[in-house]
Amino acid sequence: MPWVRGKEKLLARSLGEKPIVVIGGGIGGLVSALDLASAGLEVILIEKEQTLGGKIRQIDCAGKGVDSGPTVFTMRWVFDGLFENAGTRLDDVLQIEQLKILARHAWSKSERLDLFANREQSAQAIGDFAGPAEAARFLDFCRQASKLYRALEKPYMLSQRPSMMGMMSDLGPAGSKALYEIGLFNDLWKSLGRYFKDPRLHQLFGRYATYCGSSPFQAPATLMLIADVEMQGVWAVRGGMIAITQAITKLAHAKGVKFMQGVNCEEILQTAGKVSGVRLSTGETIQTQAVVFNGDAMALQTGLLGQANQHAVQITQTTRSLSAITWSMLAMPSGFPLVRHNVFFNRDYDSEFTDIFYRKRLPQHPTVYICAQDQTDTTSSHSAGERLLCLVNAPAIGDRQQPTLSEIESCQEKSFSLLEHCGLNLSLEEATVTRTTPQDFHRLFPATGGALYGQANHGWMDTFRRPAAQTAITGLYLAGGSAHPGAGVPMAALSGRMAAATLMAHLGLIKKSGRVLISGGTSMP
Ligand SMILES: Cc1cc2nc3c(=O)[nH]c(=O)nc-3n(C[C@H](O)[C@H](O)[C@H](O)COP(=O)(O)OP(=O)(O)OC[C@H]3O[C@@H](n4cnc5c(N)ncnc54)[C@H](O)[C@@H]3O)c2cc1C
Repeated sequence: MPWVRGKEKLLARSLGEKPIVVIGGGIGGLVSALDLASAGLEVILIEKEQTLGGKIRQIDCAGKGVDSGPTVFTMRWVFDGLFENAGTRLDDVLQIEQLKILARHAWSKSERLDLFANREQSAQAIGDFAGPAEAARFLDFCRQASKLYRALEKPYMLSQRPSMMGMMSDLGPAGSKALYEIGLFNDLWKSLGRYFKDPRLHQLFGRYATYCGSSPFQAPATLMLIADVEMQGVWAVRGGMIAITQAITKLAHAKGVKFMQGVNCEEILQTAGKVSGVRLSTGETIQTQAVVFNGDAMALQTGLLGQANQHAVQITQTTRSLSAITWSMLAMPSGFPLVRHNVFFNRDYDSEFTDIFYRKRLPQHPTVYICAQDQTDTTSSHSAGERLLCLVNAPAIGDRQQPTLSEIESCQEKSFSLLEHCGLNLSLEEATVTRTTPQDFHRLFPATGGALYGQANHGWMDTFRRPAAQTAITGLYLAGGSAHPGAGVPMAALSGRMAAATLMAHLGLIKKSGRVLISGGTSMP
C-alpha cells in the first residue's frame, strides 16, 4: 500500500512500511492524525470509546444533544491553520459565528455585567457597573494582557519545548518588558489587584485561571493572557462543539486515516528501547515505530500503557488541575436573560479554591457556569426546553475518596440556590438531567482522577513543566491538553500539531527550525 507520496518514499524505509498509530481521538489526537495524513503518511487512530472527540462530547437529553464538554471556542487561527494545511478552509467546513457578548456575569439580581467582544463597550459597561476609574484600569489591563499575549505567543505557545532561558532570549526587549511589568514571579491574583479594586472585577478576571484548571490564587500572573485570548474573539459553532471534531474526522477519513473505535490500547510495545507496536483490548497487535499518545500523560507515568513506558515522561507538577460536576439538561429558564455564556459568582471566592485544592472537597460556595447553547445555535427548537450545561469546579479525586451522594446533592442545592439568588429559575424534568462527576471523568480519562486540564499551573515554573511532544522514548510522542502548550481546545489542537510536526521532523519530512516547528499565530511575523 503506498502510504507515502513521491519524494517521501525514503520514509517508508525509516518507518519500516508501518503505519503511525495515534492513541486517542480527542482533539489533539484527531489534529495529529489529520496533519500526518495530510503529509501523506498512513495513520491508524485507536479510540477506546465508541465516539470520537474525547472531552468534546454531547450528552443526549430527551433526544437533544447537549454540549457537555468545552463550550467556549477561541483562537480560531489555530483551526484556520489546520484546515488550510489540509487543503481547505475553516469557513468551508464549519459554520461559526463570532459572539458580541463574551459572557454575562452575575452576583445578585441587581449586579450583572456583560463583557463584549468590543473592549470599548466592555469598558463602558464596567464604568456603569463599578465606576469610571475601574473602567480606565480595565483598559490598562487589556493593554497589558495584549502585550503579554503578543510577547508569549511565539516563544511559548508555538515553541516546541520552551525553557525559561530560551524564552527570555526569544522575547526581545518589548517582550521582556511586558513580563517585567506584570511581575513574572507574581501570582495572578496579586497582579490583578493592581488593576481591579472592585472585588467583583478582581474575581471575574481571576476566573480565567480556571480555563486551564488552576486556582486564581496560585496561578502565575502570565495567565492574564487568557483574558486577551477571549477578547480576540469567542465563536459559537453551529451544531455544537462536536461539529469541530466531526469536520476534522471527515477530512482525516478522506485522507485515508483508519479509525478503530471502542478499542482500548492496553500497551505500547518497545523493542530495544524504541516503540515497536501497540497491543489492543481486542487481543490484536499493530506493529509501528511511531505512536502519538493523546491520553493524559499521567497514564504513561503511572504505567497504564505498560511499565516500560513509565519513564517516557517525568511530570513533576504535583497538583492535578480542576475537575468538575456538570449537569446537562433541558430546562425552561425564567427570570434571568441568559446569553450563550453565563457565570454566577459567590462572594467568598477564596473558599472555593481552598475547598477544592486544600480540603479536596466540593466547594461550599461554588461559582456556577451555564452554557445556554440554544441562545445562538438555532439547530434545535426550544419547545421541550433549552439545552443547558451547568458546571461547577470540583477537586480531581475521582480515583480516591468520592464525594458522597449527599455532598453532591448539597453542592447541587447550593448551586441552584445561587442561580435563584441571581434571579434565574430553572424549570426542569429530572429525567432530562444527566450529572457527570469527577469519578465519571476519571473513568473517561484514565489516570486523571477526573482532572480535566492535565496538571495545574501553580507557580510560574509550572508553565515550563508540561511535557513536550517528544518523550524520552524513541518513537513515542504526546498530543493533548496534558502536554505543552496546555489545555483547552485550541491549545490541545496546537499540541496535536506539534506532535505531528516533531514526528515528521524526526523522519526528515519537514525542516526543524529552531524551537518553533509550526507556523501560525495572530501577532508575530
Ligand atoms: C466540562 C469541560 C468543559 C471545558 N470547557 C472548555 C472550554 O469552554 N473551552 C476550551 O477550549 N476547553 C475547555 N475544556 C478543555 C478541553 O475540552 C480539553 O482541554 C481538550 O478537549 C482536551 O483534548 P485532548 O486532545 O487532551 O483529548 P481528550 O479530550 O482528553 O481525549 C483523549 C482521548 O483519548 C482516549 N484514550 C485515552 N487513553 C486511551 C487508550 N489507552 N486507548 C484508546 N483511547 C484512549 C480517551 O477516550 C479520549 O477520547 C473543557 C473540558 C471539559 C471536560
